[in-house]
Amino acid sequence: MPINHAIIIGGGIAGVACALALIKHNHISCSIFEIRSEPSTIGGAVNLTPNALRYLEHLGVLSRLKPEGCEVKYIDVISERTGQRLGIIDFDNLPKFKHHGLRVMRYELLEALLETLKEAGVEVQYGKTIQSTSEEHKRITANFDDGTTIEGDILLGCDGIHSAIRTKFIQPDRKPIYSGIAVAYGFLNVGDLRDTLQVDSTSLFSGRFGSLLMSYTDAAKSRLYLSAVMETKDPGSREGWAVKGNDQEPLKKDLLRRFSGGTLSTFDQVVAKLDSLLLYPVYRLSASGIWSSGRMMLLGDAAHAMPPQGESVGLALEDVVLFSRIVEHSETRSVAELFSRYEQLRRPRIDAAVKEANFGWETIKDRGWFTTVVLEWLTWVILAWRAKRKEEEFEFDVRDVKLGFED
Ligand SMILES: Cc1cc2nc3c(=O)[nH]c(=O)nc-3n(C[C@H](O)[C@H](O)[C@H](O)COP(=O)(O)OP(=O)(O)OC[C@H]3O[C@@H](n4cnc5c(N)ncnc54)[C@H](O)[C@@H]3O)c2cc1C
Repeated sequence: MPINHAIIIGGGIAGVACALALIKHNHISCSIFEIRSEPSTIGGAVNLTPNALRYLEHLGVLSRLKPEGCEVKYIDVISERTGQRLGIIDFDNLPKFKHHGLRVMRYELLEALLETLKEAGVEVQYGKTIQSTSEEHKRITANFDDGTTIEGDILLGCDGIHSAIRTKFIQPDRKPIYSGIAVAYGFLNVGDLRDTLQVDSTSLFSGRFGSLLMSYTDAAKSRLYLSAVMETKDPGSREGWAVKGNDQEPLKKDLLRRFSGGTLSTFDQVVAKLDSLLLYPVYRLSASGIWSSGRMMLLGDAAHAMPPQGESVGLALEDVVLFSRIVEHSETRSVAELFSRYEQLRRPRIDAAVKEANFGWETIKDRGWFTTVVLEWLTWVILAWRAKRKEEEFEFDVRDVKLGFED
């Protein structure tokens, strides 16, 4: 029986992109439900890889988004101690990648996706909390806490790292794990400080007490996103994190302690200019995990949230584009066969990405002077050694993957 209607839980990047892919490329109708009362504007700015940009183009979103952001030809990785370049993450290969990278505000990305979805005639339904699901006669029903229900052929859990679909209905024991690291981020109008900073479009300063990312978010390079990735003790509760995050002065002092004194000579002026700081504890999921059950499938962070490495949006978009290609075969394949083929094709790439993200994350933790020097050498070697593989990754496109169906 072909798939005609998909229920999507989660109106974030994966959810909205998934609806777009299914509607535009598979002509499957979608109903999309978001727990929040409105689109989320939190989360700072995101780096979009060339892969992410190609998928956004495929979904008809990119032309809306591109003028908003700052083009990133490469990310400079710099020693905070010496100011020396340790290497680059290179997006500058238009013949192979088709696009450079792009830094945009997260809300701009979501807005561009939502506007494109609206054009396709679908709107996200906000303030909807799923309570239960049931499956009967090759259909799945979702019941919401406001008493409403909806029936579809499949249900897609695109509800992020804290996914209710995963923890209620698929694998309750796969809970998010605190990574031991939090991100403090904020924005500033850079003004005269621009000439004093070692930032072309994006620089990542690696130091003894964490990493500091500075990246412009607009084409004019007037607005700077600053994000400090720092080992941070878990205060033990959501309220504890809120208190830590609301205490702006101690947060700023902590930033200065960690990152001034090296080569960032105007860092105190940068911190003084920050609008405000937000503190965000970073969680991750255990590797692998169960992605599907019956007619339910997890996509994006709900399936494979990993420590941020600047590529996860691309991976979420890749999920939905591959998934929509697989679903094209729903006339002749059962849902079980489609889901199983999707997982078979998707797992190797995700497992490799998780491994790399976890490794990178461990090197951010506080360390002594000697380890810092050794790690600087190691970073230089690793970046050079990974350059070829990164090139292959940024060139990789799920639209070229052979699905292995004969029909
Ligand atoms: C600090 C930080 C920085 C990052 N920087 C980058 C970067 O530079 N580049 C990059 O590519 N990636 C980055 N990432 C990762 C990226 O943000 C995620 O991979 C991406 O947002 C995943 O999209 P998603 O739609 O799967 O999940 P989300 O963006 O989390 O969206 C999930 C949506 O589901 C909703 N939801 C939750 N529960 C329910 C429910 N029960 N019912 C209905 N809706 C629900 C949420 O409100 C949300 O709207 C970063 C992540 C972090 C934490």
